Amino acid sequence: MITNANCRRCGKEEESWEHIWNCENNESSIKEVAEQSIYKYEKYLEEHDRSEDIAILRNFNFDFINILEQPSIVLLGKSRIWELLRGIFNNNFNNLTNKKEEKCIIKELWKFIYEEFRTRIWLVRCDEVARLEKEDNIQKQDLKKKRRKESDDKEEEKIKNQKQIKI
Ligand SMILES: [Zn+2]
Repeated sequence: MITNANCRRCGKEEESWEHIWNCENNESSIKEVAEQSIYKYEKYLEEHDRSEDIAILRNFNFDFINILEQPSIVLLGKSRIWELLRGIFNNNFNNLTNKKEEKCIIKELWKFIYEEFRTRIWLVRCDEVARLEKEDNIQKQDLKKKRRKESDDKEEEKIKNQKQIKI
């Protein structure tokens, strides 16, 4: 058995937790997903007639992205987007405001972005890997069938030959 530790989608890099988020086969980069998610969250608030919350969001969206793009102290060499991907809520988000309703929106935005990463990158990847594995299995089964047929054919030929010898 040959075990291939490379990413099943791009085949270029070793499949690691980090690579899952950076894979070139992802529809968008993590930075793009984070930025687009803020707009998407605003649309979501609009659809739910939460105009006061939209005002709060507009006050904090720039600071929010700023925090995400700062280098992480826990994950060396990474931005804080990677903390979010790990599910770590950075305390700087809490420190943006003292108002409870504003804290709530910031927390909700964080959760919204976390969910966007899950659906747009993680789940898409899981589905594709499952599809690729299924295709692999079908190929393997076909190969087995082919081999079985070949050995059956040989067996048949042997029997034929034996019969001819008898005759
Ligand atoms: Zn990849």
